Amino acid sequence: MPDGSGIPRDGGAGRTVRTTCPYCGVGCGVLAETGPDGAVTVRGDPDHPANRGRLCSKGAALAETVGTQGRLLHPHLDGRPVSWDRAIGTLAAAFRHAIDHHGPDSVALYVSGQLLTEDYYVANKLMKGFIGTANIDTNSRLCMASTVAGHKRAFGSDTVPGTYGDLEQADLVVLVGSNLAWCHPVLHQRLLAARRERGTRIVVVDPRRTAACDEADLHLALAPGADVALFNGLLAHLHAGGHGDAAFVERHTDGAAGAVAAALAEAPTPERAAALCGLDPAAVRRFYDLFAATERVVTVFSQGVNQSARGTDKVNAILNAHLYTGRIGRPGMGPFSVTGQPNAMGGREVGGLANQLAAHMGFSATEVDRVRRFWNAPRMAVREGLKAVDLFRAVEDGRIRALWIMATNPAVSVPDAGRLRAALSRCDFVAVSDGFADTDTARLAHLTLPAALWGEKDGTVTNSDRTIARQRPFLPLPGAARPDWWIVSALGRALGWADAFAYDRPATIFREHAALSAFENGGSRDFDIGALAGLDDAAYDALTSAPWPMRAGEAPTRRLFADGGFFTPDRRARLLPVTGRPPARARSADFPLWLNSGRTRDHWHTMTRTGRSPRLSAHTPEPCVDLHPADAARAGVTDGAVVRIVTATGTALARAALKDGQRPGEAFLPMHWTDRFTGACVAGTLIDAVADPVSGQPELKAMPARVEPVTLRWAGCLLSREPVEPRHAGYWARHAVPGGHVLALAGEDAPPDAGALADLFPGLSPAGADTVDYEDRRRGVLRRAWIADDRLAACLFLAADGALPSRDRLLRLLAGEPLDAAARLAVLSGRSSEPAAAEGRIVCSCFRVGLDRLTAAVRDGGLTSVEAIGRALNAGTNCGSCVPELREILAAVREGAAA
Ligand code: SF4
Repeated sequence: MPDGSGIPRDGGAGRTVRTTCPYCGVGCGVLAETGPDGAVTVRGDPDHPANRGRLCSKGAALAETVGTQGRLLHPHLDGRPVSWDRAIGTLAAAFRHAIDHHGPDSVALYVSGQLLTEDYYVANKLMKGFIGTANIDTNSRLCMASTVAGHKRAFGSDTVPGTYGDLEQADLVVLVGSNLAWCHPVLHQRLLAARRERGTRIVVVDPRRTAACDEADLHLALAPGADVALFNGLLAHLHAGGHGDAAFVERHTDGAAGAVAAALAEAPTPERAAALCGLDPAAVRRFYDLFAATERVVTVFSQGVNQSARGTDKVNAILNAHLYTGRIGRPGMGPFSVTGQPNAMGGREVGGLANQLAAHMGFSATEVDRVRRFWNAPRMAVREGLKAVDLFRAVEDGRIRALWIMATNPAVSVPDAGRLRAALSRCDFVAVSDGFADTDTARLAHLTLPAALWGEKDGTVTNSDRTIARQRPFLPLPGAARPDWWIVSALGRALGWADAFAYDRPATIFREHAALSAFENGGSRDFDIGALAGLDDAAYDALTSAPWPMRAGEAPTRRLFADGGFFTPDRRARLLPVTGRPPARARSADFPLWLNSGRTRDHWHTMTRTGRSPRLSAHTPEPCVDLHPADAARAGVTDGAVVRIVTATGTALARAALKDGQRPGEAFLPMHWTDRFTGACVAGTLIDAVADPVSGQPELKAMPARVEPVTLRWAGCLLSREPVEPRHAGYWARHAVPGGHVLALAGEDAPPDAGALADLFPGLSPAGADTVDYEDRRRGVLRRAWIADDRLAACLFLAADGALPSRDRLLRLLAGEPLDAAARLAVLSGRSSEPAAAEGRIVCSCFRVGLDRLTAAVRDGGLTSVEAIGRALNAGTNCGSCVPELREILAAVREGAAA
């Protein structure tokens, strides 16, 4: 808890601490407890309005992701630990040198939606008000910049008009480019509960058949990039049928005639729209008729819309349909952007994007002057800074000489990541502040700074429906780790602005942030939390969820725009004429597939946290590329085989996963894997950096690619108690399991022999370990066990024919029992001393129920429903994230029985 310095030191041992989940933009409330032994437990907060006690699989496993293993505990300069004084002095000297010799635009910050609002606020103030550059951009650029730009074009402000409750009050929910079931699971569960109660119709618009389609009435698997055509067709249909709200359009909007004309020009009929989208005309007409006939419609959109070189136009096409029908700001209706990160919205509020100033202001002369006066800023940035893609180009060509990356891993997540890595390695000075010591980006830094992580951080976040909530500490800061706001403030003071950065606690920063939001506002700006500007420390600490706007002296406004009042100069919304465009790059004979990238169910970003959890890692233990069976057959690829993915910018190795729900001509690769977890499967290296001209958000969903079969000469499997990173140029992938780690390996060259193992696995053998070997060169079999203190430390199986012991049996080897002579022999046979029931790949993370056990129970136990599975095995009864997969298993067993 805070000790007066504002820095949490002793955690919250023995108490229940009310905090917020650090993953997605749903922003679920979490109750965290630390036991006397330091063990952490978490559960959903029943009083939090976002989740009402629910957590998804990721939230429920949060306790497995805390701890000091792998943490960065001290500042390091060129790989050696240094004091904070030395670290801040080095950072200040590098920034000062660049500014003195090359001007303020030669320094940059690349920050993150993982930061708390207070961290974000101080970083923006330092860069935009004091250093004098707007070269601070956030990884939210990759997530929802197109929504920000679309909102501002239509509403004059970056405003989400509705609330989560609208999904429960709607009669039709349209999910566009949103796998809500996996990416915002608790919100999806709320939607499904409402559907059970009131029969909410659900339409999914997505090239892939995702888990969100499981309970949808209609799935429109449109061609990539066709969203504008689909929504233009909708607007034309609404216009033709007289379904517009003429009074709302007349009173509160501008540009409807132009938008309708553009829609009619592109997609005058459902049939034309269907042709442009590659869809069945009857299905398109059904969607349009449903929309037209339903008053309460919410359109949820996410990364499938945003991560596009035409993302802003896609957003405006959606907003046009809602504005034209007046379906905005009233219960159960409105366009609804859901954000990927826990504090993407908070970042937007403080100006985390390079083209924004603080408190939802821009770079007009009036706004720059207003913020200058509020901050008493000596050197105010007067124009927009470089957006992420351009920012890293400036690092590459030497315009940026000193770069500080905070709480993010761009060497993995930014498109054309290979080029970015080369640029970072040439940059004069790179600092990385992070909670983890060994990320792909930290390896390229001169200076690394240990930052607080979830459980230690103290501040606020804002979720997708504009609700501000507290993240509170319940763990002590490990080592010399510090909150991000503290590190930024220290740099500000070192650069000579002691008074402006004299912050001693997050509450002080929050009050200033709230005061700026109300400064010369008078209702002219959407973001106003002036009612919170006077919170004292105790009230800030006790703050429960608080939706904005919350103007001083007024009741909070929950929904906006039902009666107009947009934040354009004339208070009218704008309908924009938009026209569909194909994806930025075309497929070709060389690259016949479009490669899409996104999330898996149980991992988060670059796996720094979720990769530590055996429970979460079990769902997708290795990187898989989803392919339609026809594309796989054409490429000569079989299910489960290691394949090579090739694009114009890079190559990767992953396992093929054949899926009927994958649109033919497209492939899907998760964004999570890094060089720390796999040999060569960083999605960011495969994707060219082409960005939306309005929002600067890169296209991450449609990169021309091909998939090639890989001829393997051997396969292997390593179990180890400690994480191991092999020096292996072929395929490998590591994941956490109870008691250790499992590493899958495969190679195209000759299999390694026993003499090569020390080079292949540096640092694997514990001091004093015995080894037990078995080698049969003729059959290409090599097995070795490392045994320390009578326990298995590691165990390797290599086989030229790929025949390896079953995973379930291997996992029992790490159970930890002392190994007697018989057990030592059994290890190399790949058997534990006890038989194990087949579990298979974990489907239900909450209760660790695997595919094999589920299939057997359904097949042999006569289970015919998700509820029956839940009663028998508990699977699906907690967070519900696995329910779509349970349905798939039921269907697969049914089909198998019928065949
Ligand atoms: Fe966290 Fe899951 Fe809630 Fe998202 S839905 S905030 S990941 S618990």
